[in-house]
Amino acid sequence: MKTEELYQIYLKHPFICTDTRKVTDSCLFFALKGDNFDANEFASTAIESGASYAIIDDKRYALNDRYILVEDVLTTLQELSAFHRKQLTIPVIGITGTNGKTTTKELIKSVLSQHCRTYATEGNLNNHIGVPLTLLSVRDDCDIAIIEMGANHQKEIEFLCSLAQPGYGLITNVGKAHLEGFGGVEGVKIAKGELYEYLAKTGGTVFINTDNPILVDMSRDRRVQNVVGYGKGATNFVSGGLTQVSPFLTVDWQLKGQEDEAIFTAESNLPGTYNFENILAAICIGSFFKLSSAQINQGIKAYLPQNNRSQILKTENNTVICDYYNANPSSMIVALENIQAVPAEKKVLILGDMFELGVDSPAEHSMILEKAMETTAYRKIFIGEEFYKLKDDAFEFYKTTDDALQGLENNRPINSTILLKGSRGMKLESLISTL
Ligand code: ATP
Ligand code: MG
Repeated sequence: MKTEELYQIYLKHPFICTDTRKVTDSCLFFALKGDNFDANEFASTAIESGASYAIIDDKRYALNDRYILVEDVLTTLQELSAFHRKQLTIPVIGITGTNGKTTTKELIKSVLSQHCRTYATEGNLNNHIGVPLTLLSVRDDCDIAIIEMGANHQKEIEFLCSLAQPGYGLITNVGKAHLEGFGGVEGVKIAKGELYEYLAKTGGTVFINTDNPILVDMSRDRRVQNVVGYGKGATNFVSGGLTQVSPFLTVDWQLKGQEDEAIFTAESNLPGTYNFENILAAICIGSFFKLSSAQINQGIKAYLPQNNRSQILKTENNTVICDYYNANPSSMIVALENIQAVPAEKKVLILGDMFELGVDSPAEHSMILEKAMETTAYRKIFIGEEFYKLKDDAFEFYKTTDDALQGLENNRPINSTILLKGSRGMKLESLISTL
């Protein structure tokens, strides 16, 4: 079936589903394949549960005309999303970067929603399946869309750009994550830079953190024409500075060329000095799309962090900075800098292994250990096989999170501010009961 034909069906059945447990009446079911499943097998269940059509690529399951047989379901989904995107005339903002994509996306959404109907990637649906699903969820009553794009290999962002066709783009930062797949930090730059490349080629606009020399160089190298800067310097379109870091960040900001040089104050519900650049990005984009300072400040204030990305948890005995949604060397460093900046008397570090670092893993864990030693935390706890290889008697080391649970149960911290951070797979949340 041609994409145009399928598009006509989509227009009548605009809800897409890829999971039989989430089938809604009259949706289109796309039978994707995973490592351990082939949803062709569940196509009939989807139809029985209410799906209007099932898009499949195994003819054995094509029972009647409600089964649409295509060559490859994933490619069909992607092509359909690109076709839908082409029909949209609204601004589309693409976001990628090593850290802070989801937080920045949510902040921008919160800001823009004060003024217009804004659609953004749900949660973290940022890959070769999530981006098409996101695009196909953008309705024609929407005024602006924000698309998060993740990558752990070269050419992924280029491909996602070809689907989302952003007119505007933002790379939050470029750092050390997924080094295995990218082949080192230089590889990360090339991969993330594909967004700038796309925007340079298509005459789009880049929002850029000018305090980050790597991003400035990358945009220059790729000859991006339309650049809107944000950062500490007054020559930026939006300039700003942190005026408070604890418990939450407050940012004073200014618009370039404003006659009265007014300074606005955005209060947030976000801890973590690293969130400064995320907040300023959202202020910049809000200003660019002509929102008032009051709307922008309201949008920043309205965003509450979720899913243990920089959430503060007050337990009976301690204050826990819950940042165990994920971890990589770059976000570990800024998390350590942040806890150092927090004005608390007693601090504890609980750090779990960082995954997907390939051959760089031993050196990166060793670097984080050294950095952790520089902090004034009175107790430093390292968990995981990689950290355990660096074990010495000065600090607490545990091979597994279960071992750490026992150790903490026997010796619970009290009246402390605790940084809890590690890769998702370390499951550090199981330690909360002891904190
Ligand atoms: P993912 O790759 O999983 O999609 P992401 O890029 O969307 O991650 P977030 O989910 O927003 O990132 O944040 C994850 C963690 O990254 C935060 O909890 C925080 O520790 C760290 N982080 C957020 N913003 C920044 C930043 N600007 N610089 C460095 N680290 C950051
Ligand atoms: Mg994300």
